[in-house]
Formats: sequence, C-alpha cells, structure tokens
Amino acid sequence: MSQTNIPVLDLKPQYDSLKSEIQVAISRVLESGQFIMGPDVKLFEQEVAEYLGVRHAIAVNSGTDALVIGLKALGIGEGDEVITTPFSFFATAESISNVGAKPIFVDINPDSFNIDPTAIAARITPQTKAIMPVHLYGNPAAMAAIMDIAQTYNLKVIEDCAQSFGARYYGTCSACHHQCDDSTRIQIAGKHTGTIGNVGAYSFFPSKNLGAYGDGGLIVTNDDQVAEIARMLRVHGAKKKYHNEVLGYNSRLDTMQAAILRVKLPHIDSWNEGRRLVAKSYNQLLADVSGVVAPEFADGHVFHQYTIRITNSDRQDAQQLIARDSVHQYLAAQGIGTMVYYPVPQDQLLVYKGKYPVNPVSDLLASQVLSLPIWPELNYETIERVGETIRQALALEAKNA
Ligand SMILES: *Cc1c(COP(=O)(O)O)cnc(C)c1O
Repeated sequence: MSQTNIPVLDLKPQYDSLKSEIQVAISRVLESGQFIMGPDVKLFEQEVAEYLGVRHAIAVNSGTDALVIGLKALGIGEGDEVITTPFSFFATAESISNVGAKPIFVDINPDSFNIDPTAIAARITPQTKAIMPVHLYGNPAAMAAIMDIAQTYNLKVIEDCAQSFGARYYGTCSACHHQCDDSTRIQIAGKHTGTIGNVGAYSFFPSKNLGAYGDGGLIVTNDDQVAEIARMLRVHGAKKKYHNEVLGYNSRLDTMQAAILRVKLPHIDSWNEGRRLVAKSYNQLLADVSGVVAPEFADGHVFHQYTIRITNSDRQDAQQLIARDSVHQYLAAQGIGTMVYYPVPQDQLLVYKGKYPVNPVSDLLASQVLSLPIWPELNYETIERVGETIRQALALEAKNA
C-alpha cells in the first residue's frame, strides 16, 4: 500500500488558516500604492518591538542584511575579529567577512549544537570586538555565560536569531550549567533571544518560524544610537532623503511583506507551542532507539528544526557519515523528507578552508545530524510514522554494521 509523502516542511496548512486575512492585507497595500516604507512597515516595527520586548525594531530586506547592518551599526569592520560558531548557515560568517572583519570559530557543545561558552575566552585577542552567538534550530545559546564574558572583555554581542523567532532564554540549556554566573542568568531569564545582547538579527525567510512570502529581516536593539545608525544604513546612509551621510545599503522590508507579517505575528506563540509539542512527541518516540540521540528539550526552545544525531560509538568518524546518509536515504525511499543542516561547517567551506584550526565537535556533528519533518500543524499520526521508520532504519543499520 502506498502512503502519502511527508515533506520536511509544509507551509500550506498555515496559509490555508490565514488565507482571507492575508488577501485583505495584500489588497490594502496594492490599493494604497505605497510599496516602499508604507504604513504597514512602521506598524509592524511597533508591533514586533512590543512583542519582543525591545526598544527599537528596524525592518530590513533579509536576515543576512540584518546581520551586516547590525555589525556595521556596532562599529565593527576592517581588522576586527568576531567570535562565532562554526556550526551554522554560511550567512553568519559571511556577514562578518562582508563588513571586513574576521570570523573566529569557537567549537560547539554537542548537546545544544550552540557555541561552547567555556571555549570562548581562550580565543579572545586584542582585535576581538564582538561575539555572534547563533540560536541554532531555535535553541537559545548560553547567553548568561556569553554576556558575562562580553562584560569581562568589553565585547559587543550580536545574536543571530534567524532560527529563533519567539524563543526565550531561561538558562536551562546544558551548555550553561557549568558556566553561568547565576545572577546574570536570573537577570536575563525569560527574555526573548535577540533582546539580550547589543543587537539581535532576525530573518523572515519563508521557512523560518515567522516567515514572510519572500525575503525579509529585522534588527532589534535597546541602544538608541545603534538604532539610529541602523535606520540610516538601511536607506543609503541617509537620515534625510538625498542628504546621504555615510555609505549604506538599499535594504528595506517590502510593505507587502510587512502587511503579511502583521497578520502572522499574533499567532507566533501558538505556532511555536505546536512545534514544541511535535518535538516532545518525537523525543518520546525516539527515546529508546539505539544509535539515535534526540535533541535536548530546553525551556524556551522553539524548534525551528528538530535535529537528531545518528551515532554509533563503535564506528570511526568516516562511518558516522555513512550511517547518517543511509538513514537519510532509507527515509527518502519511504517517502519521508529529511535534511542535513549543515553538511559542511562554515570553517570547512571552500571560502575559508585551510585557514582555521579544527573544531572536532562541529566536524563530528556535521556527519551525524539529521533534521526531521517539523511544522506547527504536523499531526501525531505522521510523527509516529516518521518515528517508526527511523526505528526500522536504525535496526537495518545495526544489522549491516
Ligand atoms: C536563514 C539564516 C540566515 C539568513 O537569513 P536570510 O533572511 O536568508 O538572509 C542567517 N543565519 C542563520 C542561522 C539562518 O538560518
């Protein structure tokens, strides 16, 4: 009997649930004729700032631009070093390189998939100006430890929140337990990711937890001066039109996307709760499958991805890759889509290859990770089928090993 295919992501149920409101919002923009910086942009900025609990929200063209403009607004450029994780989408390091600074890759914690705060201090030099943690897969990075280090060494913190819209930091992540100054943790506990460091950068790429129907991004900050510079950089470095003060960018959020995001924003918490429920079900179904490490279920985690590790301690590194890829292929043959985020760590990409010391944890995890289908409306029956098929794949894998 043939079963329907399960994609790795399905955006249709969300669109179906909001179709008429979205069409009203799009028509409103079309009728107004104000496609660039129309009223919906300002309203979205106010609403999203209020939701996140931050003073300033500046809407831009993409998450990548939010990182680039955020870095520039913090005064980071030529000759500076920015500490970040090797285990992320390339936009993270690319933004650092594109402002003329140098990314310094610090290895990750295998339980959180995020930068290991205990390894940061050893990599700080007189050139270090900032730390750019990524809340990968929607799991908040060890912010209390990171903020303590930033304060000690007088560094800026710019958070890559492309995968963590709506996530809140509670400091229950395993990466934190041995490192956090408890007073810092208590002080920032409950805050949204992106509002803890000096700048937060979000992406509204359609597949993100809060997705537009095209590109979009957001810079947030509580710093008035940083906000003013970011606003200026967004429109060609001008505070007043045709009176350009510095070199900037053309990086505005389309009015149409802002109008769509205003329809979606009120639903984000319930969507993220839906993702957490999916993750919880997967964790239960996979708990006793040998060769699978299920992700930690930290408070405030919004599961942009649900990512397992396919491990086999008897195997050498190269064989990890074979095990993971064969599980991926087995699932594909059963009509189940999965993805590898990311097959090559940033420091190993051709653009940087050979220029950096190795990060063993990041390299190992790149050969083990597999992201399973997840979206807020994913039903239990489907989750069960994915879980069961993984169990079969691992049983087969153990037999062939
Ligand atoms: C998606 C993503 C970005 C870039 O966002 P865009 O809107 O696609 O430019 C940056 N960092 C991470 C971790 C991402 O996942």
